[in-house]
Amino acid sequence: LWEEVLKLSEVKFSPQIVNTWLKPLKILDMRGDLITIEAPNRFYKNWVEDKYLETLKKIFLEEYNIQSEIQIVIGSSTQSYREQPQDQTVKAQNTILNNSTNLNKQYTFDNFVVGSSNQFPHAAALAVAEGYFQTYNPLFIYGGVGLGKTHLMHAIGNKILEKFPKLKILYISSEAFTNEMIYALKSKTMDIFREKYRNIDLLLFDDVQFLAGKTRSTEEFFYTFNSLYDMQKQIVLTSDKEPNEIPDLEERLRSRFSWGLVADIQPPSVDEKVAIILKRSEIMNIYVSNEVAHFLAENLKGDNIRDLIGALIRLNAFSTFHNEPITIELAKKALEKFIIKKDIIVTPEAVINAVCSYFNVKQQEIKSKNRSRVISYPRQVAMYILREKLNLPLQDIANIFGGRNHSTVLHSIKEIQNRMQSDQELKSVINTIIRNIYK
Ligand code: ADP
Ligand code: MG
Repeated sequence: LWEEVLKLSEVKFSPQIVNTWLKPLKILDMRGDLITIEAPNRFYKNWVEDKYLETLKKIFLEEYNIQSEIQIVIGSSTQSYREQPQDQTVKAQNTILNNSTNLNKQYTFDNFVVGSSNQFPHAAALAVAEGYFQTYNPLFIYGGVGLGKTHLMHAIGNKILEKFPKLKILYISSEAFTNEMIYALKSKTMDIFREKYRNIDLLLFDDVQFLAGKTRSTEEFFYTFNSLYDMQKQIVLTSDKEPNEIPDLEERLRSRFSWGLVADIQPPSVDEKVAIILKRSEIMNIYVSNEVAHFLAENLKGDNIRDLIGALIRLNAFSTFHNEPITIELAKKALEKFIIKKDIIVTPEAVINAVCSYFNVKQQEIKSKNRSRVISYPRQVAMYILREKLNLPLQDIANIFGGRNHSTVLHSIKEIQNRMQSDQELKSVINTIIRNIYK
């Protein structure tokens, strides 16, 4: 959990602060409304208490819905923390020089839930992974944020690596590619850079749309692409749009993207969401019932799978923290801000109730044929709301009010409509009643 909190902290603090001050801390205990955090010594304790405690509390509250005090104790278990945050340039150099694949082992085909929204890109990815190189070259997968493009890409890499450990596989995002190139230009190591990129058997190039408008890296990528393609090496690309719709990207590059196979990935259906939640909870080794999975799939905002999984992680943290099993009730509490507030379904009964209680008349009276003004006026208002707000057919309204003729109903509604033109008070009465209905 602390790892995750650290990640979330990066939004609020600089990486320096996170590395220097927060990383050495450790969650010792979370119980009730007290989180106990261990610091390596008094110096850390005082510093963090002074500067970062309030923001940490905020993170727990906003991200986990956990409202609690944080107490910092000095620990014996944390070893002294001497490691310096790694120098950025050293890091950049390492990425250029080492020949690792950048693959994330978690993103496999086994962990990928297939449904109608992603059947096609999945099949295409699998075909590439099973060695149908050049048949689908390049493979171009596009679709919205958080729908599994990166996952599929890594899955291809992982599967090929398993079968052909000697092949040179590289996963890289277009931003990382650009950064490496800039570094290579500065440090005059472009030859190493080019050598690296033209010596790959499988290039997994993520989020290519970010090359748009970057002339120098687009050009460099263009040459990389051509040389790999000419050597019949496999290229897989992803983007948030289809090739033709990526703005500000050179035509010659765009057209190459459509040479092989273009596959789009769609937002998941509710059933797919359920399957993904169940799969992920299995991987996370937590118990989520079908019922809860359905609840989450149907009620969480948006179609983004990343957010869906984020919600599950939050829910799990919340459950651990409060020491309560994962139930729908707990999910409602933990994920309050992420849950769609469905429109309340308004029934005719609810309208009549609201009208009656506003005018202080009885239901039998309003539904009767009583023509006295104190009764017939609320009745007309109720008819009007039923018609205007619920779009109830005139005949249904007539039936509710003791089987009147529907032209009588129409007449009543017209009367209210006319009066509303000039009567501000009536307008506000009706608005108040409508508000009450939704309460
Ligand atoms: P994208 O690259 O399209 O923005 P990602 O591949 O990063 O999306 O996916 C976001 C998260 O959702 C990842 O954690 C990924 O493992 C998960 N995910 C996406 N699609 C699926 C799926 N079909 N089955 C299981 N997990 C998925
Ligand atoms: Mg991605």
